Amino acid sequence: VVKTNGERLKASLLSMAELGATEAGGVTRLGLTDTDRAARNRFSDWATAAGLKVRVDDLGIVYARLEGTEPTADPILIGSHLDSVPFGGKFDGTLGVMVGLEVARILAESGVCLRRPIEVVDFTSEEAGRFEPAMMASGVLAGRFTPEYVYSRADRDGCTYGAELERIGYKGSPANRVGKIHAYIEVHIEQGPALEAEGLPLGVGEGILGMIWKNVTVTGQPQHAGPSPMRSRRDAMVAAARMISGIRDLALDYPDPVTTTVGRVLPLPGVINQIPGQVIMSVDVRHWSTAGLAELSERAEALMRRIAAEEKVDAQIEQIWRIDPTVFDPRLVDLVESETRRLGYPYCRLTSGAGHDAKYINEIAPTVMLFVRTVGGKSHCETEAVHWDDVVAAADVLLSVVHTLAQEAPLR
Ligand SMILES: [Zn+2]
Repeated sequence: VVKTNGERLKASLLSMAELGATEAGGVTRLGLTDTDRAARNRFSDWATAAGLKVRVDDLGIVYARLEGTEPTADPILIGSHLDSVPFGGKFDGTLGVMVGLEVARILAESGVCLRRPIEVVDFTSEEAGRFEPAMMASGVLAGRFTPEYVYSRADRDGCTYGAELERIGYKGSPANRVGKIHAYIEVHIEQGPALEAEGLPLGVGEGILGMIWKNVTVTGQPQHAGPSPMRSRRDAMVAAARMISGIRDLALDYPDPVTTTVGRVLPLPGVINQIPGQVIMSVDVRHWSTAGLAELSERAEALMRRIAAEEKVDAQIEQIWRIDPTVFDPRLVDLVESETRRLGYPYCRLTSGAGHDAKYINEIAPTVMLFVRTVGGKSHCETEAVHWDDVVAAADVLLSVVHTLAQEAPLR
């Protein structure tokens, strides 16, 4: 039985953490910066030394390929992203790339003959820390964006994605994009507290929450705070406050990880001695199923309409953004679960509240994620931490899953 090399995996993660290291123990490694180039170079050097073949596509996605005995078979894709947010953590996406590399290294060293090629992938600029929106490279693979749109995106200094990609020497050929993918498995830190709360090292990803954003404009009657009797007021702020509290309570009817959040409230005119005539606020609703998302969204709207009527104000509700829930491939979810169980690691199934490249790849290929317990549930911060044993557990599960999938005949 082949096992991953935990010491080498740890050393690789710590070595990567030197690139863009911050004083407080985190990492600032924004996409397509010199630091990102250094991380890409280091990853490529290690992959080449392990006997993998490295190539780069027109989006800057780096693929490190371990050949199979059937070179024309669709590959197994494993990895994540090497970029970070400003003052982010050492692990985030880097963990997925390094775990993927360790699996490929072990397979290459052991000389196991696998039918399918394995490709370890570093998706360009997954975070929106420099270029927005997030996950544009995987989005292009899924047909969500054109390369022209992505190249034209500029950071705060006006530097474009396209120009920066060329500057760091990572603009490859469209012919190097991965074609048909047999399966994509992304290992990532959980970035939340669920696994730690349950005392579990691993979470088998079932999907990613869908999301609806609304803009709500509550309009009442602005009036002087002194001479206006309490019972005849049409106070937009009071109505908004009741809505905010009610929307929070709605999500409490559901088990985790369903969420509702009002993150932005703007009272107008915002004067101490005037009844607010208008409040503009945001609503963020998240659920794991399409039907559940629609239901929760409709319940939030009904609640706001009811409160508006009771408070004699007007509520204009506008849906400004909607992302369908991601449901990972059931066969792959079952496979990751059975391998985790077989290897004896405690786990639960988990739906992620955060976006990942796996979201877009799931639209074009069977996809699954494996989550690693995150200390204190903290991520996108300098104190982000993991337990090394959990990382090795994830690597061993990935190795086992890849080993199974790489022997599979074409499914069609
Ligand atoms: Zn990430």
